[in-house]
Amino acid sequence: MSESVEDLLRQAKQDLAEAGDLTTLEGIRVRYLGKKGWFTQRLKELGQLSPQERPAVGKRLNEAREEFERCLEERRQILRQEQLERRLREEVLDVTLPGRSRGEGGLHPVSLTLHRIEKLFINVGFQVAQGPEIEDDYHNFEALNIPPLHPARAMHDTFYIDHHTLLRTHTSPVQIRVMEKGNPPFKVIAPGRVYRCDSDLTHTPMFHQVEGFLVDEGVSFADLRGILDEFLRAFFEQDVKVRFRPSYFPFTEPSAEVDIACMMCQGEGCRTCGQGGWLEVMGCGMIHPKVFEAVGIDPQRFTGFAFGLGVERLAMLRYGIDDLRLFFENDLRFLEQFH
Ligand SMILES: [Zn+2]
Repeated sequence: MSESVEDLLRQAKQDLAEAGDLTTLEGIRVRYLGKKGWFTQRLKELGQLSPQERPAVGKRLNEAREEFERCLEERRQILRQEQLERRLREEVLDVTLPGRSRGEGGLHPVSLTLHRIEKLFINVGFQVAQGPEIEDDYHNFEALNIPPLHPARAMHDTFYIDHHTLLRTHTSPVQIRVMEKGNPPFKVIAPGRVYRCDSDLTHTPMFHQVEGFLVDEGVSFADLRGILDEFLRAFFEQDVKVRFRPSYFPFTEPSAEVDIACMMCQGEGCRTCGQGGWLEVMGCGMIHPKVFEAVGIDPQRFTGFAFGLGVERLAMLRYGIDDLRLFFENDLRFLEQFH
């Protein structure tokens, strides 16, 4: 047995030196020091030796085992160091690589257009007012000179909640609410959602309008023209040709519809403008004396104008969108183009 202590220690040291990684090293440790390992077995067998032999062999065995453990630990340190260096070499971080960013959200084109319209009017001194979307018949119709049975009601395709309550069909009731509460002068725009019981290629049951009005002493139709001309030019960022066409609304007198020369064909006539060369963009007029009377403003002293425009319509013209439904389908491929 004594011959084998020296031989096997040499063999064990050689095994350690050849171990190329920590897993192999652990295998070697088990082989020599494990429950059934070589050193463990030999120490168990000491009992079979004679009492004379036992101390010397036992001492030699323990020394050999301690030496093996020392060598094992040394080798483990070396392999750990190598492993660390290998990882540092292989897992190099290139800090100059571009980062992975999160997809950035954006505003809906209708919101972008609303904000743009608001900003342009705020720039020339208008204030922004809001009103309820669930409105009463009085503010939506009667105070705007649309009494019961007035034919204009038929054009509004109203969603009624009950006999007196409805979803507002336009933003004009905000005009009434603002004028009821305050005193002239007024210079206000009222953006918001409106509802009509109507759905086809060019109509959706909900859409957005911006109502605007200006009331003061001596306000004339020329002021209205000036403001709307300026607004349309600023909105489309080009020198658009603007045309005022006589029209009828119960709450304004005189009334007009505002057309711009078609941006698609520059007035030549195309599919967008129905070959006419003009696009209708808004309605307007001088506030009807009856509307002033309904809110307690003296129509002898004050005059004013009002206008209303469709936000989706302006967004379509500005961005060259030919289908209204695209706004409401929430297809990201469409919406992402407006970041
Ligand atoms: Zn055209």
